Amino acid sequence: MALLDVCDLSVSFGRVAALKGVSLQVQEGEIVTVLGANGAGKSTLLRAILGAVPAKGGGITFADADITRAPAHERIQKGIVLVPEGRRILISLTVEENLLLGAHMRTDQDAVARERDAIYDRFPNLAERRHMAASCLSGGEQQMLAIGRAMMAKPRLMMLDEPSLGLSPLFVSKLFDLIRELNAGGLSVLLVEQNTGKALAAAHRASVLELGRVIMAGDPAALARDPRLQEAYLGED
Ligand code: ATP
Repeated sequence: MALLDVCDLSVSFGRVAALKGVSLQVQEGEIVTVLGANGAGKSTLLRAILGAVPAKGGGITFADADITRAPAHERIQKGIVLVPEGRRILISLTVEENLLLGAHMRTDQDAVARERDAIYDRFPNLAERRHMAASCLSGGEQQMLAIGRAMMAKPRLMMLDEPSLGLSPLFVSKLFDLIRELNAGGLSVLLVEQNTGKALAAAHRASVLELGRVIMAGDPAALARDPRLQEAYLGED
């Protein structure tokens, strides 16, 4: 059974139907990418999986439990985490305070401290600035902090909403290395990206959303060769 199973999900905002029967699975250990133009419904899909917006129809199963109507905090406790678009770092707090926000639901303080230190080992730039305001970080470092903060929740599934947006090419490469590395360590990943070429190269499977519907899905290498996708999204890569 899939770790995450989204079945025929629909979400509406008033009269705007943002998702119209979307189905998608993430198997344990997979990187799945969701591509699509602005307004296709990608952010809404991630927010619905997290429980930040309600499902109007369809269902969401995670780790064998029906979470369609579960509150967001319960989903986070089960191991779902979202690194939102724009990172949402609190720039007036210190780097460490931001990091620890990701662990606010945990009670195992010794393990939290060990994982914080593991994140500092992975990101020496964050360790050096742990007591400085997060505003002193570059955009790329803030993205690493956002991912570090999400790791502090000990997720089984990490959802990332356009993490490469606004990053320099060097940081985009580092970011994709990091996603691959976390995945190799056992983390399952659902990745929304504008950087279609890099996302397809990293993913085990891919889906393309258009106006709230999945219009293509399957093997990323096959999708990368698909003329419709090349025309629509791969031109700028
Ligand atoms: P982008 O890349 O621009 O973030 P997206 O694929 O993530 O695009 P969504 O942000 O999920 O798309 O938006 C899908 C549709 O739902 C759009 O028509 C959008 O205007 C609408 N929508 C999203 N959030 C809301 C909201 N909170 N209230 C009303 N309409 C919304």
